[in-house]
Amino acid sequence: MNKFSELNYSRLNYKQTKEKLLNYKKEILNASSYEDIRRAWLSMREYIQYLSYIEEMAYIRYLCGVSYNFYKEEVRIQNLEDPQIMVIQNECDRLLINSPYVKEFELEFGHMIVNQLKNNSMLLNTSTSSLQAEEARLRMEYTSLLSSGQDREALSEQFYDILDNLITVRSEMANALGYKSYIEMAYKLQGRFDYGETEIATFRTQIQKLISPACKELRNSITLQYPDTDVRDAKGLIAVLKDMFSDISQGSREYINYIFEHELFDITDRQFKRNNIFSCCMLPYKKAPFIIGAYHGNGSEANYLIHEFGHGYAFYTAARSQKLYEYHRASPSVNEIHSKAMEHFAYPYLDTFMGKQKNNYVRNHLFQSLDNLPYRCAIDEFEHALYKDIKLTRIQRCELWAEIERKYMSWRITDLQAIKQGTYWPNQSHLFTHPFYYIEYNIAQINVFEFYERSKHNYEQAWQDYTNLCETGGSTNYFNLLKVGNLSNPFASNTVSMVCTPILEELYSLV
Ligand SMILES: [Zn+2]
Repeated sequence: MNKFSELNYSRLNYKQTKEKLLNYKKEILNASSYEDIRRAWLSMREYIQYLSYIEEMAYIRYLCGVSYNFYKEEVRIQNLEDPQIMVIQNECDRLLINSPYVKEFELEFGHMIVNQLKNNSMLLNTSTSSLQAEEARLRMEYTSLLSSGQDREALSEQFYDILDNLITVRSEMANALGYKSYIEMAYKLQGRFDYGETEIATFRTQIQKLISPACKELRNSITLQYPDTDVRDAKGLIAVLKDMFSDISQGSREYINYIFEHELFDITDRQFKRNNIFSCCMLPYKKAPFIIGAYHGNGSEANYLIHEFGHGYAFYTAARSQKLYEYHRASPSVNEIHSKAMEHFAYPYLDTFMGKQKNNYVRNHLFQSLDNLPYRCAIDEFEHALYKDIKLTRIQRCELWAEIERKYMSWRITDLQAIKQGTYWPNQSHLFTHPFYYIEYNIAQINVFEFYERSKHNYEQAWQDYTNLCETGGSTNYFNLLKVGNLSNPFASNTVSMVCTPILEELYSLV
């Protein structure tokens, strides 16, 4: 593979693409042996990966503000075409899972893929492809507004309308597919096979009981403000990260060398680049991660970048250990362990970019990790309420948010005027682009704290457990993955308190 910036892009010929996919479909339909169906299905999937690779290339350039207007148009076209491609892909998958060869397939590739394909086939069909396209269009409208450079306050009205429309479209989609509400559908979309609404609600209660009061107390002595780093520019920071990954292990050295060789990162700000963006994209087909960020020299930005490099490491290792692309990533509650644990594995290297501000950075990082827990629970509860009763008025939604906010973050001051005006609701992009994802960061955070404690006592062992987890990708279910990483079940009744107590102690000692 060349350097990313040197990769050629030209728009896919969607007509030909669909024809080719329909040919694969025919092959799968006419297969008369396991070998035949296996070959046809794998070729179809490889072709899909190639398509995603081309599309992702355009999407990354769009996010980064490179030839912005050109790639913006490309992404708009993709959003229109993709649902139709997904429908054909889905028909191919359905033929496979309903074929007499599914047992052999499961024997070779494992239970997870069959589960996933069955799940997807319930989530996609022709009746909803126009709704999917509409959802993608609204998401894009939102991200375009974000990168328009206008003040968020001034966009409040437009943001609200987009959210309102998204709630309607998503609920219609769920209805068309026979789900009680979008909540049920979203759980399936997240690949939550092993836990449900009850577990998540109990988990939120634990955070509210144990972490909310601690955050309230800590807020008296800590104000969240990351110090600046010693490394002022993007080039300097990336060099520090290179040294860090070269030092941790042989595997992380190979990873960072690969990233550098192909220049798979863009962390310099530019016009039209999405504001405050930190993301790790994946280029299937090439098995290459791509890290996006905007670095101006602050510790929090360095932390976000390390997070994204963690996602990249996990994808890179899983892609080289797992045969199926579907296994190169796990569900979000595990993917976020990959990224967040990396933030802690960076601690021994903080001297190199935080210098004298190291302790200050650690205090901010630990406090933020903890302080986010109640906020994310609030967002999650709010989302459940939004989709449970989609007919709520704008004012009712604001009142609801105020009430939930009080429950988890009693330190926040409610702006009664804003409630009356209908502007009191959270400015959280996940509500628009990744519904029901936010709580996954919390579930992951508990296991991340476990890795952190282990790394303090035995860094190498912790890193080995972590790498094993990354390499396993999404090839087995959630609870098995926790076992691979030697991690506790976050939903068990004592886990939150057991894991968070030493973190709280450390934080009190740093105040
Ligand atoms: Zn992440």
